[in-house]
Amino acid sequence: MDVFKDLLRKHFDLIAERIELLEGYEDKTYLVTTDSGTFVLKDQRLTKSLLSRLQLEQELTGYLNKEAHYAFPCALIARSGKPYVQRDGRIMRLLTFLEGDFLAEVELEQVTLESLGDMLGRLNLQSGRLEPGFSGEVSPWDLQHLELSRKGLNHVADPHDRALLEYFFQLYDTAVLPDRYTLPKSLIHNDANDWNVLTREGKVTGIIDFGDMCYSWRINELAVGLTYVLMRKDDLLGTATTVIQAYCRHIDLTSLELRLLYYLIGGRMCMSLCNSALAARSKPDSEYIRISERPIRSLLRRWVALSPEKAANAFLEAGGLQTPPFPNSEDLLRQRKEGFPPSLSLSYSRPIAMQRAAFQYMFDTEGHRFLDAYNNIMLVGHCHPHVVEATIRVLRRLNTNTRYLYEELLNYTERLLTYFPPNLCRVFLVNSGSAATDLALRLSRAFTQKSMILALEHGYHGNTVAAIEVSHYKHQAGGGYPNTLLCPMPKVFGSDQKDDGTAGRYFSRYAEQLVEAHSGEVAAFIAEPIMGCGGQVPLPLGFLPEVYQAVRAQGGVCISDEVQVGFGRLGHWMWGFEKYEVVPDMVILGKPMGNGHPIGAVVTTEAIASSFDNGPEFFSSFGGNPVSCAAGLAVLEVLEKESLQASAAETGAYLKAGLGELASQFPIIADVRGEGLFIGVELIAQGGGPATAAAVLLKNELRNAHILIGTDGPANNVLKIKPPLPFNRENCDELLREMARILSEQRES
Ligand code: PMP
Repeated sequence: MDVFKDLLRKHFDLIAERIELLEGYEDKTYLVTTDSGTFVLKDQRLTKSLLSRLQLEQELTGYLNKEAHYAFPCALIARSGKPYVQRDGRIMRLLTFLEGDFLAEVELEQVTLESLGDMLGRLNLQSGRLEPGFSGEVSPWDLQHLELSRKGLNHVADPHDRALLEYFFQLYDTAVLPDRYTLPKSLIHNDANDWNVLTREGKVTGIIDFGDMCYSWRINELAVGLTYVLMRKDDLLGTATTVIQAYCRHIDLTSLELRLLYYLIGGRMCMSLCNSALAARSKPDSEYIRISERPIRSLLRRWVALSPEKAANAFLEAGGLQTPPFPNSEDLLRQRKEGFPPSLSLSYSRPIAMQRAAFQYMFDTEGHRFLDAYNNIMLVGHCHPHVVEATIRVLRRLNTNTRYLYEELLNYTERLLTYFPPNLCRVFLVNSGSAATDLALRLSRAFTQKSMILALEHGYHGNTVAAIEVSHYKHQAGGGYPNTLLCPMPKVFGSDQKDDGTAGRYFSRYAEQLVEAHSGEVAAFIAEPIMGCGGQVPLPLGFLPEVYQAVRAQGGVCISDEVQVGFGRLGHWMWGFEKYEVVPDMVILGKPMGNGHPIGAVVTTEAIASSFDNGPEFFSSFGGNPVSCAAGLAVLEVLEKESLQASAAETGAYLKAGLGELASQFPIIADVRGEGLFIGVELIAQGGGPATAAAVLLKNELRNAHILIGTDGPANNVLKIKPPLPFNRENCDELLREMARILSEQRES
């Protein structure tokens, strides 16, 4: 410190009483108390452009200070006549010290936000008039170069944070990059974070630290400033609107700038978390570096739940610009009716025109956010960036079929098989659950040389001719398929049986009798471990072992349809058959397998698979293509990396407990069942019959409250809850709260 004392005396005629090091990223900053006031001493490495940058900073703060609306630090002139001292390849500057409380330390009132926008607007009005004078610099804090921050992604500790960040990196690539040469540029301060902005009596008074000043997209000034106030406010759009309106009193932002602001705020969060994760490696104990981490992680979760389109419209309005019209659901409905058969029904009495989705959220064209508690296909979350990226990469390179050798197919099948018992060691890849069912039935017939199939009443296994034959759920149109044997739905709730093995034995007796009556003719038994379309009905314990034995004893095979429940959704089990301690001969996979990418599979034994070897060759044009395999592999990787199976167990238990509570308050809830995040809630009316109307009403009221669930079961009185696995406790609370509200209203009416 004596070196600095000498320097201050020699070059600035000041006697330093105290010199205190302040924390920072790279430059060294000291707080200096002298005989004639407090100053800030900056000690920086001399780089090529530093001097021209400092000159520009001096010029800018000079203009700004002259206006006298806000205060900006300016460098004292040394004895040499220069605003700095150069020594040993370093530059020392003595800056005026600004009094006040940091924005981070004060309440964010309306006036605080207005004055922030006003200060930034005035700042940019001046900075925009200056020629940058330096160029070619690439700063990891300039949102134009967000890509530089990506290398920090692997150092972000929490895997769900990483997924959210990756998602915002992708949004930036998609939305911002195509317009990177059109966005207006300006000299900007570029670091209006809440530890740089000063306030007094609740109003912004100035800003310090021009070290990240750069010639960048003008709108980045607001993107940075807004990020740090949004992390402290619940009302995201109201807060942003206040700041933008005040800013726009000085600057006319373009429509493009305001439309991209949402993505740039996302980008700033990526930058902040990735850069701090990277910097923390060399300074693990620095609180300064991690200071914004926690609030940004929380903002990230709230930002992903906000529609970018809705945000864009709010920002455009705040900037006094017109908002674009959104696709009208009435028009879409009319268009749909013209070329689309009405047999394909729409969900909800008020159909939803969907625009986009992210993880456990979906957004309609009007910007409403829907909490998705329904779509089990999006296992690892809507538009999960890892799945999207893996798929696109391969799609851009190679898309062919299994008549060629390629790694994606081999890597995927090898990985998939690790999740199965050793005897299930052959995979046929197709494009849907229905195709998988169809193939499994065909394989079973080829293998056993038998034709009959034992299935469960109210089951559903797919839409092909063969699959429909075993899908009693779809038999209303005219039942009776000679090759199908139907066992009554083994549903414990509503029977007088207990699920301690006795119910299993009770129901399996029906199946055994059917098999016995057709002994030697039954090729296969097909069942879901928890029946989805049947109304989220878990098979009773002991049922499958008994039926499997009976079917096998007469030469048939057993198929587990894991299309709905597979891939870890049940929490404790990757596959539903594991719960029942059986090993099927064939497993059917689909829906969540590709997180929305059309892929399905039959996993079976070597013996069964080889029954096709000497007969009909099996080929699927799309089944097993490299893109589908990449999607499938990415799903498994995310499941592991983000521990989503454990999270399904944990969140599912929490939700089931909450639903149990609701059941004790509302007698209409007669049964809460299921495993992990595959839950059914059965509603029964006072007289004991199915409360179908109430279930449908509840579903539609939840939709009106922007929560998506479904109803199903033979009487359509079972609520189906099977969300994407990123669904968390707060999401459960929201669902439970809204259910309670609607049920109370229903009870009162
Ligand atoms: N099996 C089950 C249990 C299903 O729920 C479904 C689809 N609802 C299928 C098979 C058929 O799958 P897909 O719609 O992909 O053909």
